[in-house]
Amino acid sequence: MEASAVPQPTRWPIAGHANAVDQLSRAVASGRINHAYLLTGPDGIGRRTLARTFAQALVCQADSGERPCGECSACRRVREGTFPDVTTVSLETQLAASERRDSRNTVISIETIREMRSSISLRPMEADWRVAILEDVDRVSRDAYDALLKTLEEPPPFVILVLIATEFAALPETIRSRCRQIALEPLSRDLVSGALRERGAEAEQANLIARLTRGRIGRAFDLIADQEALDQRRASVDNALEMIGDPLIALAEARRLADVFRRGQREQVQQEIDLFLGLWRDLLLAKTGRHEAVVNIDVIEQLTKTGQNWTLGAVQTAVESCYQALHDLSVNVQPRLALTSMVVQWPEPQ
Ligand SMILES: [Zn+2]
Repeated sequence: MEASAVPQPTRWPIAGHANAVDQLSRAVASGRINHAYLLTGPDGIGRRTLARTFAQALVCQADSGERPCGECSACRRVREGTFPDVTTVSLETQLAASERRDSRNTVISIETIREMRSSISLRPMEADWRVAILEDVDRVSRDAYDALLKTLEEPPPFVILVLIATEFAALPETIRSRCRQIALEPLSRDLVSGALRERGAEAEQANLIARLTRGRIGRAFDLIADQEALDQRRASVDNALEMIGDPLIALAEARRLADVFRRGQREQVQQEIDLFLGLWRDLLLAKTGRHEAVVNIDVIEQLTKTGQNWTLGAVQTAVESCYQALHDLSVNVQPRLALTSMVVQWPEPQ
């Protein structure tokens, strides 16, 4: 790899994350590349896209100009997941490769790490580097960590490992200390909505999705392309608004949710409560003039109208009732009790 005298920072096709892009693109341009990187941050923040773009930059076949060019055969095949010198390993690929379809696939197994190790021990076929992207590093099984550690300790000279994890602090020190960490933070709402508009979203929709996804650009891109999920969210919001506007509906819904919870769909019930919590918080924010922080901006007018006569204290009590219900359910309070106690603390429309 040829090192240019003055590495120029390139503009990668990545919204935000300027520091991370700067670090990685400079490494590629200068040829001074670490053997292991650890990209951390919450799910949906853009870690995978960054890892893939870095891999493209490392193997791009463009003669000159910006790397990755995004158009050469290598760039294209990395994007499609078919370039031989770039491997991605994740819970998803593990499941796809597994013949035991009944396996629970909740952790990255030692076999998967061993397969990755043997695949990267071969010299690259087309590029200067062999790049292995390992996602879900938080979910690597205990015994597999040792195999991963060995790879990190003595990587073949042509190998670049890109690990992806949620929380830096949750990983063993032995792993952390052998990687260059790049932490991705949530992006500003303006940046996310601007990126969505660049992709053709209308301003109002882009603004709503930027608020709903709280700076997680990857999730924002997923959501804007998923009309079904958007429709479902809107239906849930409308249902919650009906509950907030009518104590009888709220009580009936609380009982229904208790049944759902008892049938084992706990996560679904927690999501519903999170939604109530979000709406009550939004109302509190709107009432105190902090519209900028409101998440469910598309219904805030209706919500404010419903609650126009409620005191801040009454809304605050409703917020707390949601936290209490989440807590009660987590410590196995009877679901019907936990959920009905929540809604009876909500203020009554006048
Ligand atoms: Zn290229």
